[in-house]
Amino acid sequence: MISRRNFIKLSGGAVAVGTLAGCAGGMSRGGAGGKVVVVGGGPGGATAAKYLRMADPSIEVTLIEANPKYYTCFMSNEVLGGDRDLDSITFGYDGLRRHGVRVVHDMVTQIDPATRKIMTKRGATFSYDRAIVSPGIDFKWGAIEGHSAELAESTIPHAWKAGPQTVALHKQLLDMKNGGTVVIATPAGAFRCPPGPYERASLIAQYLKRHKPKSKVIIMDSGDKFAKQGLFMAGWKKHYGYGTSNSIIEWVSGSQGGKIEGVDGKAMTVQGAVDKIKADVINVIPPQKAGKIAFDAGLTDGDWCPVNKKTFESKIHAGIHVLGDASNSAGMPKSGYSANVQAKVCAMAVADLLAGREPGFPSYMNTCYSVVAEDHGISVSIVYTFDEAKNEIVAVKGAGGVTPSDASAEALRREAHYAHGWFANITNDIFG
Ligand SMILES: Cc1cc2nc3c(=O)[nH]c(=O)nc-3n(C[C@H](O)[C@H](O)[C@H](O)COP(=O)(O)OP(=O)(O)OC[C@H]3O[C@@H](n4cnc5c(N)ncnc54)[C@H](O)[C@@H]3O)c2cc1C
Repeated sequence: MISRRNFIKLSGGAVAVGTLAGCAGGMSRGGAGGKVVVVGGGPGGATAAKYLRMADPSIEVTLIEANPKYYTCFMSNEVLGGDRDLDSITFGYDGLRRHGVRVVHDMVTQIDPATRKIMTKRGATFSYDRAIVSPGIDFKWGAIEGHSAELAESTIPHAWKAGPQTVALHKQLLDMKNGGTVVIATPAGAFRCPPGPYERASLIAQYLKRHKPKSKVIIMDSGDKFAKQGLFMAGWKKHYGYGTSNSIIEWVSGSQGGKIEGVDGKAMTVQGAVDKIKADVINVIPPQKAGKIAFDAGLTDGDWCPVNKKTFESKIHAGIHVLGDASNSAGMPKSGYSANVQAKVCAMAVADLLAGREPGFPSYMNTCYSVVAEDHGISVSIVYTFDEAKNEIVAVKGAGGVTPSDASAEALRREAHYAHGWFANITNDIFG
């Protein structure tokens, strides 16, 4: 028998597909024509470009992405822990080209909402009827004394955008002595992948347990609680001795002085509210805001971009849609799955708006898997609907689920397996 929880898992990305299936005759909306330029080829932008072409092949879709390859942050913690390599999280854009998306590798430097034109670093200009902007995040340098983009490129990588910094941080772990200390500092404010720092601590602890068992990971936390906390801590007890004097993982909450105030890349120390900690490897994850182009284009209010959550159209500039991490879809966590689902809702809305139709009523979902150890996964799934009066994305009561606290070892092993299945499916959905 399929339980409700398993049904939701099996349906996986299908809620958004369900959104699409709401259109008569499946995906194709047909005939609108028009030009759409998509900025950013991550889960948000790449999915939107592909699904727009699938919804209406008469629409000319151009995707402008700065880099020829995309490294997924999802599963990048397994690269840090040595369970997979960078190639396995590297994707190109030929799949999108096969869907008829024109892919341009260039940096967008300007978006002019008045003339509906987009300009790039190489001097090209693209005109659009509608634009979709999904530039991800940027970092708030200067929030932590002594921390900078230069330091992150050299000795203290954040690895919060996967790629070369993921490799650099992994190498630091390989080079570290047995008996060394790794510090992970979590950011204050809204950030991409709320459970990510704790999955990272888990998989670094797994590496240390296997190869450098006298070492430890200290999480300097800006807050007092975190996503899936009970499930993570139960996993840490089971695998890494959490709560004992031999624990590989130590968690310092914000109120215990975990929020760091400064970092010194030469002395290799972090300054917490109470203690200064010397470490061998330091991973400061800086506070975050919407990607730079969102600020340059005047799409932000505070750190993020306000949008109509039914269509993801900017509340500041008509004709420009913003989705994924850069938007203020606060009801949903900033995740790759959220970006992928929002992109499908947005693509259908854009196809409708270009054809002069009223966009359909959306639903959304997010499942967030975390790998605690090789054979131990945990997850939380939430199904959302749209509250038109409040312009909010709200959770549907009674839908979704979370790994039970008394899940058997076999169930946890299966969760880890589902996490890898989810990764294969979503990357194929985005780039395939
Ligand atoms: C360690 C870690 C683990 C994670 N694990 C998970 C997970 O298990 N599940 C999950 O769902 N999510 C996970 N996430 C979160 C997920 O990676 C992000 O939420 C997701 O990448 C957001 O997608 P996006 O399209 O909004 O932005 P991005 O993925 O950042 O994509 C933005 C793209 O836009 C491009 N770009 C930016 N500006 C410009 C410009 N001016 N011109 C041209 N191109 C531009 C960038 O090069 C980039 O390719 C994790 C994140 C981290 C850090």
